[in-house]
Amino acid sequence: MLLNDCITKVKGIGSKRAELFNKLGIFSVADLLRFYPRQNAYIFLEQFVKLANLELGKKNISIVEVVSIQKKQSRYRLKYATLVVKDETGYAEVLLFATQIYRATQLKPGDKVLIIATASNKQGKILLNDAIIKNILDTQLQPGIFPTYSLVSGLSQTIIQKTISTVLKNYSSCVQESLPETILRKFALPDIHTSLNNIHFPANKKMLFNAQKRLIFEELFYIQFAFYNQQKQTNNRQVLSVQDSKLTNILLNKLPFKLTQDQQESWQAIKADLKSGKVMRRLLQGDVGSGKTIIALLTAVLNTQSSGQTVILAPTEVLALQHFNYFRELLAPFNINIELLVGNTKPNKRRQILSDLQNAQIDILIGTHAIFQPDVEFANLSLAIIDEQHRFGVQQRQCLFDKSHNAVHLLSMSATPIPRTLALALYGNLEISTIKTMPANRKPIKTLLYNEQMRHSVYQGAARQVSAGRQVYVVCPLIEESENATHNKNANDVYEELTTKYFSKNDCALLHGRMSSTEKEAIMLGFVNGTIKVLVSTTVIEVGINVPNACLIIIEGAEMFGLAQLHQLRGRVGRGEHQSYCALLINSNSNTDNSMQRLGLMVKYSDGFILAEQDLLLRGAGQLLGMQQHGFDDLLLANIIRDSDLLIAINNYLKQLEQETAFIKEISKLQQNSLINYKLASSLN
Ligand code: ADP
Ligand code: MG
Repeated sequence: MLLNDCITKVKGIGSKRAELFNKLGIFSVADLLRFYPRQNAYIFLEQFVKLANLELGKKNISIVEVVSIQKKQSRYRLKYATLVVKDETGYAEVLLFATQIYRATQLKPGDKVLIIATASNKQGKILLNDAIIKNILDTQLQPGIFPTYSLVSGLSQTIIQKTISTVLKNYSSCVQESLPETILRKFALPDIHTSLNNIHFPANKKMLFNAQKRLIFEELFYIQFAFYNQQKQTNNRQVLSVQDSKLTNILLNKLPFKLTQDQQESWQAIKADLKSGKVMRRLLQGDVGSGKTIIALLTAVLNTQSSGQTVILAPTEVLALQHFNYFRELLAPFNINIELLVGNTKPNKRRQILSDLQNAQIDILIGTHAIFQPDVEFANLSLAIIDEQHRFGVQQRQCLFDKSHNAVHLLSMSATPIPRTLALALYGNLEISTIKTMPANRKPIKTLLYNEQMRHSVYQGAARQVSAGRQVYVVCPLIEESENATHNKNANDVYEELTTKYFSKNDCALLHGRMSSTEKEAIMLGFVNGTIKVLVSTTVIEVGINVPNACLIIIEGAEMFGLAQLHQLRGRVGRGEHQSYCALLINSNSNTDNSMQRLGLMVKYSDGFILAEQDLLLRGAGQLLGMQQHGFDDLLLANIIRDSDLLIAINNYLKQLEQETAFIKEISKLQQNSLINYKLASSLN
């Protein structure tokens, strides 16, 4: 018997029933054990209730005697049965439907049964609905706390309960403790057997609470433990201690602006990290347009001055390209070699880059996911900068670290602010710098809502901006017409309309993800140097694009976009000294409350921190930051926002274990027993 036995080995599960369980994502015995009852959906039946004292509208558990059974058919030919039951305090009537009717036929007057049902009062008569009727000898049904599970049609609560109870009994010897005794004692957690038994069939409230606590602890603990190990691995590597260099000050003096106070502080913190002799783990947060790129540039330059190589990772090709041009321009006077590597880099060029990288001819490599390829090897990688880091997963970060024998300093950058606890959970231990204030020359962006009838005047506004010398973005949800979104504007149509009615073809360009990188590059350059006045695009420009002369962004089908995405898009304007506008165009009439609420928030707030909070409220934490990428779909019980206290406690505890090598080994060994290792195919709970 093994935990990854197929469920057909369990008594009572044939191939038909197994298919139903598969629908719930349950394939193995371990999946069954981890098929936890829905949280907050336990039925608390802590004592038997006499019929006279039934609590209306709630589940009650009672011992009753059967008085009569009658099978019936309604006017609409619906079959049902009524069962009259009594105890010494009164009578009640039970209505039974479908498969329950069969149960009724097994009963006879005078039988004593246990019944769990919701009570209601119909004109003085007590009715019992959704009844579960059990033989009084059934030992499982004492007063107690009863689980309820997610169901699919064909699988009842009773079947699932029975199956899980069987598995708990028969497979208990396969389940081994997965946390050390010391930790169980320190955090007052029950052992694994007690916990599994009580999460499914709680002996009482306290045992249920403790079981949940233990299993939540285990989920969080092993995620944190993985981070801890990852870090320790890198801690054992040699760290490049970066020397101060005059070059960064020379650069700063050449900039057309002075760093804001927050930029200054972030830069000082980064410098201190790099010089400390310990490996840097820093997250740089700052709203869109707050000026994170210049900090990245300074950091990269400092690293190169101590002969380390730097890799800069961006989520899109367009953004990687922009960084590449920005770096090349600012660093042109200096002897720093910068290259760009993206998916579309030509094979010859790519070969050259790979060889130059290995010969330490390249100081800074900027690129996209293309950098993860195993044949991309560095001579001396010592710094990784990840822009818009929430678009990358833990594995991808690790992949960068593994490209160096030495420790790699990490600077993550994000415009999506997250609470510290969440950052810890998502990225392990790190320091956080936040740029709160925008550069001083900025005027707040004016955000306005328009409907379809007002499109003409919105485009006229765009024409006015262009004649005043400014540039305009027009963002569309789709590239071309699609069947299921007929009323939403697509980029092709909008481009047609703009170039026939409002602008010349020379002034406008169309940009979307299906273009080749050479095409994209030409268009981006045209927009950056101002020959293109109006850029019609899909959301490929969502992150990072920086053209300070662009002062108007028109978002078509704004109701289609999420709050975070709208804020990112809006952040494309308001980057220079001119007053900027964001026009949200609503294309469809079928707006949900939710989409109108989002647009309302966009008009009301410009601060990304506030919007992120609101987003969290509207969408729930699960959707935040594409958490699927981070292995957090393994969490069945834990919720990193609700359980953040526990998360911090675990984090602190792990830090204390630094020196205790033997104990860490023990933990690693026990971890292999953890049910978490048996992945539930999909978590429906
Ligand atoms: P983000 O934080 O969204 O990545 P960027 O780094 O792209 O923002 O910066 C947006 C714009 O602000 C750029 O044009 C940049 O040169 C400019 N900028 C950065 N710092 C300052 C500053 N301290 N004063 C004025 N402009 C700045
Ligand atoms: Mg940026």
